Amino acid sequence: MKDHYQVLIVGGGSAGITVGAHLRNEEHPPDVGIIEPSEVHYYQPIWTLVGAGVFDREISKRQEADFIPEGADWIQEAAASFDPENNTVTTEDGTTIGYDYLVVAPGIQLDWDKIPGLKESVGQPGTGVVSNYTYETVPQTWTTLQQLEPGDKALFTQPSTPIKCGGAPQKIMYLTADHLRKEGILDEVSVEFFSPGTVVFGVTEFERTLKKVIDRYGIDFHIQEELVELRPDAHEAVFQVIGGDGAPSQKVVEYDMIHVTPPQSAPDFIKKSPLANDDGWVDVHKLTLQHNQYDNIFSLGDAAGTPNAKTGAAVRKQAPVVVENLLQLMREGAITEPKEYHGYSSCPLVTGYGKLVLAEFDYDNNPDPSFPFDTTQERYSMYALKAYGLPEMYWHGMLRGRA
Ligand SMILES: Cc1cc2nc3c(=O)[nH]c(=O)nc-3n(C[C@H](O)[C@H](O)[C@H](O)COP(=O)(O)OP(=O)(O)OC[C@H]3O[C@@H](n4cnc5c(N)ncnc54)[C@H](O)[C@@H]3O)c2cc1C
Repeated sequence: MKDHYQVLIVGGGSAGITVGAHLRNEEHPPDVGIIEPSEVHYYQPIWTLVGAGVFDREISKRQEADFIPEGADWIQEAAASFDPENNTVTTEDGTTIGYDYLVVAPGIQLDWDKIPGLKESVGQPGTGVVSNYTYETVPQTWTTLQQLEPGDKALFTQPSTPIKCGGAPQKIMYLTADHLRKEGILDEVSVEFFSPGTVVFGVTEFERTLKKVIDRYGIDFHIQEELVELRPDAHEAVFQVIGGDGAPSQKVVEYDMIHVTPPQSAPDFIKKSPLANDDGWVDVHKLTLQHNQYDNIFSLGDAAGTPNAKTGAAVRKQAPVVVENLLQLMREGAITEPKEYHGYSSCPLVTGYGKLVLAEFDYDNNPDPSFPFDTTQERYSMYALKAYGLPEMYWHGMLRGRA
């Protein structure tokens, strides 16, 4: 390990590894250090299908060491603070590392503590409280949904904060409903969604299809209602009712199963750093992904302060933009022909076993399809892409800097 790198990357998840791999694939690659504390690397998008019993969770996990790009150094520490005036990052163990260029990609933070009663119950057998949002908790989703019986109530929630994969809270609900249909008890189990927003999905073209899916399964879709507390012993969920004419109020709903998408925010060490914008995210230009104050700093992925939907698909389009702009700056001293990211994101909305609507859109919520057919319809081909194609593309293409 050195004490200075030409390019230092904070975070070796989807974004950090992809950028590192692109850089190391260059003909004359810069020296690259990657600060990443975790021994393992997860392909998180597959957790939706793990929670629905399609795959075992092991399929999502690989050794981080196998994906550190050739020639890059892995600094197995957690970054703790930044000194952008002096071009250094200090890790939790007190090591200070210098850089010429910095790429910040530590992902998003799951704020389990923000909902009283959640942290101690989520993923624990017998509580009915489940979440696909971590490797540790995801198997309990499948165990719990198989135990649903006639007369039961299954709730699904979405927080008002930005989250990674905005469609994930709904996908597991559609899969649960489809499972109940296959078991012949869909009409006898109440399936309900609670969203603080006012729409089912932000892009009209896809919302139309999702509304039909919701009708097909007989789902109760509550808008402007947000989970604020769990009472695990009583199997009760407390919701803040935001809309309506009256003053905000609360309501208590009993459950047999509740899938919770936790509130999320920028990692604390980013929030309190000089790199953050007012909302805590890394303050970068939404087209060039270059920091608004420090020219030699870039950010992408879930931690970046760009107004796109936070997904791995967005990372795939952001990485070449960061790399191209960083290399221009490195070679020419300025970004003379900026490469731009226009907010592309993709949400593969699984609507049942073997059915998927591939929503792809940009910063303005305009559809941005990659396929020459009507992707607003449910298709098996798009389900197969998510279940079998995209994981292969991720491990063998994107993380190797080839896609
Ligand atoms: C249930 C679920 C379903 C999803 N479905 C989809 C989908 O269908 N399609 C899609 O495109 N995306 C999906 N996503 C989102 C996708 O996984 C993320 O958007 C993507 O992983 C973001 O990449 P990232 O590199 O910013 O963050 P991550 O991949 O989370 O990586 C962040 C890395 O930073 C490291 N880190 C954290 N703190 C520090 C620190 N202090 N110092 C150094 N390193 C640190 C972490 O250990 C981690 O390795 C889903 C996510 C979930 C949870």
